[in-house]
Amino acid sequence: MQVIILLLTGFALIMIWFGLPMMLRAFQTRQLHQACVARRAIALTYDDGPSADVTPQLSALLGGRDTPATFFVIGREIDKRGDVVDELRRQGHDVGNHTQSHINAWKAGPLAAARDMTGCQRKFSRADAVPGLFRPPFGKATVATVLQAIAMRLRFVYWTVDTQDSWNRRAIDSVIDELSTRGGGVVLMHDFSAPRRGPTPSRHKEYVLDLTAAIIDFARQNDFQLVRVRDLLV
Ligand SMILES: [Zn+2]
Repeated sequence: MQVIILLLTGFALIMIWFGLPMMLRAFQTRQLHQACVARRAIALTYDDGPSADVTPQLSALLGGRDTPATFFVIGREIDKRGDVVDELRRQGHDVGNHTQSHINAWKAGPLAAARDMTGCQRKFSRADAVPGLFRPPFGKATVATVLQAIAMRLRFVYWTVDTQDSWNRRAIDSVIDELSTRGGGVVLMHDFSAPRRGPTPSRHKEYVLDLTAAIIDFARQNDFQLVRVRDLLV
């Protein structure tokens, strides 16, 4: 009997540890989608930068088209090229926390995951907007990282449209069709130098730049506003 109670307790704790954040993710993603539809909005988001190559070219493209975006940066990459992040901020883009070393919270211990969040946040200053934004690597969160985000005044930000650019990219038309059919969305792309695992997909930079330009064209021709994710949060 005691063994069964122990097993049930363990099962319940695991369900809470992983399940509660998954429920929060579903709730928050639905809210983001509803905000996009209500405002006829599209938010461009880029993860895993800043890179030496893709990020400055994206920044030039977005700046030339007067389009704001949101970048979820990795602390280790900021250590190498903080000037690129400074330039993003100067251009009016939002910059969010994507951890120091892109740790997977489902595989790391709770303390390691929390430390990785604070490691990246140290690169932010008091001048940065509050609440800060946090996108969990791989979209994975636990109760520990949710509590850590609350303590650090960070808002979790997921996405509603996945371009799959880092592993199995979709045709540009397919992404545009989804934005059109669903009435807007928060689009996930990457501005990394190289993906976290596996080889860099061929012509990744060109794909991200072409897709970004295509979404901007689509938005302008169809009266969608291009916003930062922060503008969608209530
Ligand atoms: Zn990432």
